[in-house]
Amino acid sequence: MIRVSRVRCPDYGGAAAAVSRAVELLGAAGLAGRGEPLLVKPNLLSAHPPGAAVTTHPAVVDAVLAVAADLGARAVVADSPGLGSARRVARASGIAAVCRRHGVPVVDLGRSEPVTVSGPTYRSLVLARDAVEARWLWNLPKWKTHTMMGLTLGVKNLYGCVPGKRKIAVHFRAGRSARAFARQLLDIEAVLRPRLTVLDGVVAMDGPGPGRGRPLAVGLVLASTDAPALDWVAAGLSGIEPETVPTVAESRLSGRLDPDAVEAVGDPAEPVRFEPAPGSPCDWRLPGPLKRWVGEAVSPEPRFDPDACTGCGVCVDACPAGALELARPPRLDSAACIRCYCCQELCPTGAARVPGRRWPGRTTTGEDR
Ligand code: SF4
Ligand code: SF4
Repeated sequence: MIRVSRVRCPDYGGAAAAVSRAVELLGAAGLAGRGEPLLVKPNLLSAHPPGAAVTTHPAVVDAVLAVAADLGARAVVADSPGLGSARRVARASGIAAVCRRHGVPVVDLGRSEPVTVSGPTYRSLVLARDAVEARWLWNLPKWKTHTMMGLTLGVKNLYGCVPGKRKIAVHFRAGRSARAFARQLLDIEAVLRPRLTVLDGVVAMDGPGPGRGRPLAVGLVLASTDAPALDWVAAGLSGIEPETVPTVAESRLSGRLDPDAVEAVGDPAEPVRFEPAPGSPCDWRLPGPLKRWVGEAVSPEPRFDPDACTGCGVCVDACPAGALELARPPRLDSAACIRCYCCQELCPTGAARVPGRRWPGRTTTGEDR
């Protein structure tokens, strides 16, 4: 059986004890090697303070680095953010201060040499050499809703191991298919095989995640040696049908995940109602498989609020399809848009938005409950 541990943690003051217990409950040997390098990969999406719930909370990173120190590993904290350098995002999120205390460097995977690897489905995937060659890799996702992927959990967090602008190619290859994007993420997971995944769900995010949602107190830390198994348990606890989350659905379809082989241990936990990200595959009141197929076919295009737009051009730079022309607000080529929602994810002002679905979707815009 593959264990997924669930530990109650009502606030970040208890993160050290919760993480330590979550790891112990796995009963797993060989999480890292004494004196050997360990790459710790939090979610450093973009520069936000810890209270915004965009990035992995520094208290969780602190607790994980303490576990690594106990095992005698030589840790680095590394990511390639969607926007900004890893050091800048680490500073804003409070993670840089934690790293300094532990004497652990922050490494920008965006500057790491790109290497081409093969996964079970895709013959060429470009990843950061530092991540591919890491002797040990620990994965620290933040529990958040996600417009394209429904939820971002353990498997999705590894997307940050694609260096810098190389991320654009992953989206472009998938086009409008969330399933094709999910299959690439599962290939990345298969190549990197993080030895440990610890999910920060003390304060999660729902609504228009992963960059502009609302903090949601869930009070849980989850851990596993298997990221897809952890995602399966977390999706079920999100009050969202797991099958509507493309990474979870594809991990089942590909045989990577066998839910019957997953054993949840630790504290009992009831599902929490996450409000789906507007426009996400979970934002349909249809049975799970239909949600995925129908949702992909009619996913809404992003809209741009002229009053909130500063004309900064971040969305234009981030757009994998070249579907945006710089203006204030940007002009969208609807036919070219692949509905990846990178523009919404990275817009610093919240001017890029994805409208909620109309019938038979929810009518929420994500601003209300
Ligand atoms: S929509 Fe957002 S990211 Fe795009 S130009 Fe306007 S403010 Fe910048
Ligand atoms: S306009 Fe936005 S949603 Fe459309 S392809 Fe570009 S980044 Fe993706």
